[in-house]
Amino acid sequence: MHTKHGIAVSPGVAIGPAFVLGVEDFRIPHRSVSGDAVDAEIVRFRCALENVCREIGDNEKLASEQLGTQYGAIFAAHQEMVRDPKLQGEVEALIRDRHYSPEFALSRVLGQYAKVLLNLGDMYKADRAIDLYDLEKRLLRHLLGERREELSNLTAPVIVLARDLTPSETASLPKRFVLGFATEVGGYTSHTAILAGALEIPAVVAVGDIVTDVSGGETVILDGINGRIIVDPDEDTILEYRDSEKRARSVAERLVSQRSLKSETADHSRIWLMGNIEFPEEAEHCKELGADGIGLYRTEFLYLESSREQSEEEHCEAYRQVVSAFPEQPVVIRTLDLGADKVPSQMPQLYPLGANPELGLRSIRLSLNDLERFKTQLRAILRVASLGDVRIMFPLISSLIELRQAKSTLHDVMEDLEEQGVPFNRDIQVGMMVEVPSVPLLAEDFAREVDFFSIGTNDLIQYTLAVDRSNPAVAKYYNSADPAILRMIQMVAAAGEKHDVPVTVCGQMSSDPKYIPLLVGLGIRQLSATPHVIPQLKEVVRHLTIPQAEAIAAHAVKLELARDVETYLRGELNKLCPDLAK
Ligand code: PEP
Ligand code: MG
Repeated sequence: MHTKHGIAVSPGVAIGPAFVLGVEDFRIPHRSVSGDAVDAEIVRFRCALENVCREIGDNEKLASEQLGTQYGAIFAAHQEMVRDPKLQGEVEALIRDRHYSPEFALSRVLGQYAKVLLNLGDMYKADRAIDLYDLEKRLLRHLLGERREELSNLTAPVIVLARDLTPSETASLPKRFVLGFATEVGGYTSHTAILAGALEIPAVVAVGDIVTDVSGGETVILDGINGRIIVDPDEDTILEYRDSEKRARSVAERLVSQRSLKSETADHSRIWLMGNIEFPEEAEHCKELGADGIGLYRTEFLYLESSREQSEEEHCEAYRQVVSAFPEQPVVIRTLDLGADKVPSQMPQLYPLGANPELGLRSIRLSLNDLERFKTQLRAILRVASLGDVRIMFPLISSLIELRQAKSTLHDVMEDLEEQGVPFNRDIQVGMMVEVPSVPLLAEDFAREVDFFSIGTNDLIQYTLAVDRSNPAVAKYYNSADPAILRMIQMVAAAGEKHDVPVTVCGQMSSDPKYIPLLVGLGIRQLSATPHVIPQLKEVVRHLTIPQAEAIAAHAVKLELARDVETYLRGELNKLCPDLAK
């Protein structure tokens, strides 16, 4: 039994067999295969050989046609290597006799060949070693790539262990069979982590080397509460986890049974608790959990799930589904926040990311750069807005100019709809995300031009503290409790109050129960969170009074260090709701 530690990003405990996803940079785990899987693994290896032969044949043909047969001959040499019966025989012997996985056996054999060539001390022969590495990569891409496809064809429950999962891969995980997942990289507010919460799959990220240490098939406990992965646990540990799982479930059931209670403080101040969603189907679930509406609909997932552009009708259909779950409550639709890590895997060429994608052409900038797509989405939002209390929100606004351009595009779209006689809501509320430090600094200026603010702490922390939200190497510097972040929230809340502009917090900070007293104490009355935590947030709200929250906030903002703020808030939560304190 061995334990790995990481960052818990989606709560719950899962126990099941490991399913290891290969990695693109081809670090090959020392995996073995069970005796009865040997034949199937040999077939898998032969298929990869066949596919690579075909691929090299296509390359040879193309090079010969376009450049001449002498260039095609380069590939003929590769072809000969793949067809070498000695190579195939040696790899298959390792699979059959030593039960090596095809990936590991292949790396072993080709690694030995390359070493011999390199030791000959001849430049020309050393170059052939490079050809061998190239061949190895091709074969591994086929072998490992298959595992990624296998993921969508799972037939039994597993715990997925991967170096990384992109948001679009996470969005397409077959929820029925994925009990939980762990990745080597990632951060608490990475989009992959947020999706795990949305899909309600227990998950741990930033666990360091795992795909090389686990072969696949071993029993794994994935502890999404404490951020632990236990490989080959003993019986006692499994029993202990099953017990704690039972206790957690009974607390969750008690909280969900209170969903019809109003979300108000013990001294009767209304606190709006809304849901953050990525997929329209989640809206109904938010309702079941007692949400007061949808505070953030991340519409870019329409693109991350699909392989093509979305039509106006497709946008409308998704939005209608959300509004039908909340016909009388707020539904805040955020315009596309594509770019950076949210790039559809099928259309990467449309997103020129640049060297520093988080600071590049992303989000509202991408929309303003592609007005046709932006207008398609705006038309759909405006049309659906006639069906309920739909509000529109622009992401990642960093300057007044961007905000004005976005609003002016919205007005152009209204004119078009008017002219075409298409029904829509002209009085739609227009708000913006607060995710870039320039906005809190100029909050009063922005407040004059919007109907509401929504603070996206995930990006606000990233940009204020200069910490990549997905990079485990700097995860310790990423902290919602940082005094600079509290100050920013205070600034926005004050500007909102002065100009009568409501302020919501919709970043992951509001999904953590210990921050609720602080946020309420700072003047926030609307929170939008991962759906499954809404019952917990309501529990905190109902145990709190406004003077108590204000006293907590007043104390917290005087502390100098993030870790002191965190410890203090954890202690306060423990006093209010001991069941929820970790
Ligand atoms: C945020 O940045 O806090 C936010 C809610 O937006 P996203 O997580 O989608 O970037
Ligand atoms: Mg954001």
